[in-house]
Amino acid sequence: MARGGSQNWTSGESEGRPEEQTTEDTGGKMVKETQYYDILGVKPSASPEEIKKAYRKLALKYHPDKNPDEGEKFKLISQAYEVLSDPKKRDIYDQGGEQAIKEGGSGSPSFSSPMDIFDMFFGGGGRMARERRGKNVVHQLSVTLEDLYNGVTKKLALQKNVICEKCEGIGGKKGSVEKCPVCKGRGMQIHIQQIGPGMVQQIQTVCIECKGQGERINPKDRCESCNGAKVIREKKIIEVHVEKGMKDGQKILFHGEGDQEPELEPGDVIIVLDQKDHSVFQRRGHDLIMKMKIQLSEALCGFKKTIKTLDDRVLVITSKSGEVIKHGDLKCVRNEGMPIYKSPLEKGILIIQFLVIFPEKHWLPQDKLSQLEALLPPRQKVRITEDMDQVELKEFNPNEQNWRQHREAYEEDDDGPRAGVQCQTA
Ligand SMILES: [Zn+2]
Ligand SMILES: [Zn+2]
Repeated sequence: MARGGSQNWTSGESEGRPEEQTTEDTGGKMVKETQYYDILGVKPSASPEEIKKAYRKLALKYHPDKNPDEGEKFKLISQAYEVLSDPKKRDIYDQGGEQAIKEGGSGSPSFSSPMDIFDMFFGGGGRMARERRGKNVVHQLSVTLEDLYNGVTKKLALQKNVICEKCEGIGGKKGSVEKCPVCKGRGMQIHIQQIGPGMVQQIQTVCIECKGQGERINPKDRCESCNGAKVIREKKIIEVHVEKGMKDGQKILFHGEGDQEPELEPGDVIIVLDQKDHSVFQRRGHDLIMKMKIQLSEALCGFKKTIKTLDDRVLVITSKSGEVIKHGDLKCVRNEGMPIYKSPLEKGILIIQFLVIFPEKHWLPQDKLSQLEALLPPRQKVRITEDMDQVELKEFNPNEQNWRQHREAYEEDDDGPRAGVQCQTA
């Protein structure tokens, strides 16, 4: 956790302090292009965890199993993740854009197969393992922060391939398997295509008749139950035990519950927890973080406040009379964070960030202001002399500032001579 200070995790929140909110799309970071970030739907300032989470959600949504028409999108998501999840590649991309990534290394862009990236991420075991085992099935399970705090058991209905019982996975009567007459057992068909005068091209395609198996079952002997497919789709209900302290993105493995295929070990079902945002608490590791608004009077004179916990208890917190809470101050309550996975009697801490609500302008009649001032710490005296410039104090517009930063960055990037570039004052 190198991210020190409170600013990091409070910025970007809707209730954050106004002066902390960044209005530019990049989240304050200067990058050449944002395309990869846009594909994953994150800001260029996103943390590795945010990038992982974005990939996880999108990859599950656009996986060809669930979205067969979105293969291209699945590929783009995978490529963006491959670059942004690697600190070195991300750095190269931030500085030089996609061009730099494509030029880096061997010359041609060498992205891993989207399926390998997916399997690596979700623990599918890669291509080698896949060839000897049936396919893993990955499902996302939506949970609330309350579910993760209290633990819950959820039922999930899955569709999966199981070996056809009627033909025991043969696809037809015993002895009905024959060499495919169309491809003569090769599994591939070769087409010859004329592409120019005296030039032909050989195109190999997977045999349609046997789907590349090299053998088939004579249509008259086919199993009626599975229609020769050897497997049938079946609905299966699995019970997922979400244990106390589990976290967003955690995987729960159901060994051997994946798709069955003849002569292969069945794959696994992998359930990935997806935590919905909570309206009050944010989780950081074992800790919970919340913001609490207090009035200026409470900040200066003390208060009692209540907090409803994730297991429906009510905590009372007290700021004693005489204590002062400043805007942005952090306080904590021990043992009121998240339960620790596998050791749920232990809990993290609850961190409360106080946001002091200041009164609106002219809340106090002019004549009362002096009374208030008499009670407050004395103001600092400033001596104004003739040679000082009196300037106007105006509302700050962050967009104006933004524009200026962009221009500076542009000028810095420009290696050419900078003659003629002058500072223009508005
Ligand atoms: Zn064939
Ligand atoms: Zn069958």
